[in-house]
Amino acid sequence: MGRIISIVNQKGGVGKTTTAVNLAASLGVLEKRVLLVDMDPQGNASSMAALRKKPDVTIYDMMADSELLQYYDTDLPWMKVIPCDRNLTGAEIELLGIENREFVLRETLSPLKDEFDFIIIDSPPSLNILTINNMVASDAIIVPIQCEYFALEGLTGIIETWKMMQQYNEHLALDGILLTMYDKRVRLTFDVEDDVRSHFGDTVFETVIPRNVKLSESPSFGKPIILYDISSIGAKQYLALAEEYIKRGEGQ
Ligand code: ATP
Ligand code: MG
Repeated sequence: MGRIISIVNQKGGVGKTTTAVNLAASLGVLEKRVLLVDMDPQGNASSMAALRKKPDVTIYDMMADSELLQYYDTDLPWMKVIPCDRNLTGAEIELLGIENREFVLRETLSPLKDEFDFIIIDSPPSLNILTINNMVASDAIIVPIQCEYFALEGLTGIIETWKMMQQYNEHLALDGILLTMYDKRVRLTFDVEDDVRSHFGDTVFETVIPRNVKLSESPSFGKPIILYDISSIGAKQYLALAEEYIKRGEGQ
């Protein structure tokens, strides 16, 4: 059975989408069967995923009608995608009128669990019904945090949310906290790192993602970093993250 992982943090701009896309792509390069699911109506992950053709069905349609369930090819043979677009915003409201509204995505994705080693879900920067669906559908969350002053506060918030989610999904694990936009030249980076590592120990990935201009450029080319500049430090670190993550899983 595949592992379903949501990339979550209520805070905006911390590297969720960058991590969802590039972790998925890196796991794919390591020949894991990966499905990337875009559950943020901004649709950034969909446009970064190197899709081979313009999709005509999105996760929004699939949540409404399970017969529409399908995924799309990318330029990476091991990575498939279920995209989304702005319409997903409508689901936020429509879901509110449905019984068991927290469980819709879980139902939608359940037929695919055997087909993939990893299903990675990108989340919006809020704790709305979409994010709740993501966490209810998942085996685990990964939390990217930016190394900046309020990082720890944000982290406390997401840990509370994670605990709250146990009422719907008691097995939801915290697979890792990832330090992103790590900048060695900034002292604060080390302070944040010390704090986070002393609070959360081994839950924090050893691998850190540096601030890297190639990572910020690759979205405008519609590609994961490994297809844009494989020699960049950003590409190397996301590959290292995928390796660390696989190794951790094997150790469990
Ligand atoms: P949102 O909450 O809006 O969904 P997010 O948490 O998904 O944001 P991203 O979109 O991944 O965050 O990243 C925010 C911005 O920072 C993007 O422009 C992205 O290209 C850039 N970025 C992300 N990670 C890095 C990095 N390691 N180095 C440089 N730029 C980065
Ligand atoms: Mg995002």
